[in-house]
Amino acid sequence: MKAIGVCGSDIHVYHGKHPYMSYPVVQGHEVSAVVEEPGAGVTNVAVGDLVTVQPQVVCGTCYPCTHGMYNDCESLKVMGFQTTGMASDYFVVDAAKALRLASAGLIEFESLITHRIPFDRYLDAYKLIEEQKDRAMKVMIEME
Ligand SMILES: [Zn+2]
Ligand SMILES: [Zn+2]
Repeated sequence: MKAIGVCGSDIHVYHGKHPYMSYPVVQGHEVSAVVEEPGAGVTNVAVGDLVTVQPQVVCGTCYPCTHGMYNDCESLKVMGFQTTGMASDYFVVDAAKALRLASAGLIEFESLITHRIPFDRYLDAYKLIEEQKDRAMKVMIEME
């Protein structure tokens, strides 16, 4: 894992003001990573691929799921809200769908990042976003 993006909804969860969540929960639903070793049966990514994760954990069997509308899954859980997010010490990518990043789009994302904060100062990102709303566009937590 390389970085975790902090988003406005994370701040609401932190203050207990997000309507669709339950404590305790580990946050982090925007992540970038490099594949070190694909999990068993994983064929859509290879070692060295830059990936992100689809943070919606879906059942795959309900009516919306079987019709490709995973965002409407009847037992939808979003990482960092109703289930463990990426800021946890351990994280199994098999739990989510790893998506290859389109390298052509990376430069665009890069221009949105205004701050980078190391993992051990995670909560400083929240403070920064709250105190400098006009200056903090996208704050990234860096893993190394
Ligand atoms: Zn978000
Ligand atoms: Zn479903």
